[in-house]
Amino acid sequence: MTEALVLTTGQLELRVYQGDLTQVHADAIVNAANPAMNPGGGVDGAINLAAGPRLAPLQRSLGPLAVGAAVLTPGFDLPAKFIIHTVGPIYRPEAHARVSQQLQQCYQSCLDLAAAQELTSIAFPAISTGVYGFPIGLSLPLVASVLRTFGRQPSSIRRVDLVCFKTAAAASYQEYFAVDFGET
Ligand code: ADP
Repeated sequence: MTEALVLTTGQLELRVYQGDLTQVHADAIVNAANPAMNPGGGVDGAINLAAGPRLAPLQRSLGPLAVGAAVLTPGFDLPAKFIIHTVGPIYRPEAHARVSQQLQQCYQSCLDLAAAQELTSIAFPAISTGVYGFPIGLSLPLVASVLRTFGRQPSSIRRVDLVCFKTAAAASYQEYFAVDFGET
């Protein structure tokens, strides 16, 4: 885990860093699941490995899940208390506006669900930027705008971690967020 960039937007403390989501201590971590809620590879596979075998049957029972929706399960063996599962869009350049809106809906649904559960902290992976092919650079302003708006509204959420698995992704995130949220 590299050093976190720590920023403030409204009532949220944002922490942006390279790390492994399965090791994060937060009320909830977010899983980038698939619509069938069938545990797959990537962050979903890592979360299932770390959460233990009780997660997969429960996760499957909650499918199918629409793109942009979110559901909550226990974290089981994870340090996080809960997992919020969401389904990101598969990136399609010809449908840029639609997939952008869907990606924002993922972040929004997760934040809304966490707030409905009165959680105080939530950690996100870079949803859709792995197998689903969403270019990190295009995702950044979308994620930032959801967080900025959410931070202005009253809620229980105080800390949001943006956790990038890959060093290059973390560098892009830190660079973007430092400029977009720095010194405001
Ligand atoms: P998607 O299908 O939504 O693209 P992936 O799991 O393929 O989901 O990738 C989403 C993001 O999660 C990618 O940026 C990938 O590098 C990252 N990732 C993979 N494993 C982990 C992990 N253990 N912790 C944090 N992020 C991870």
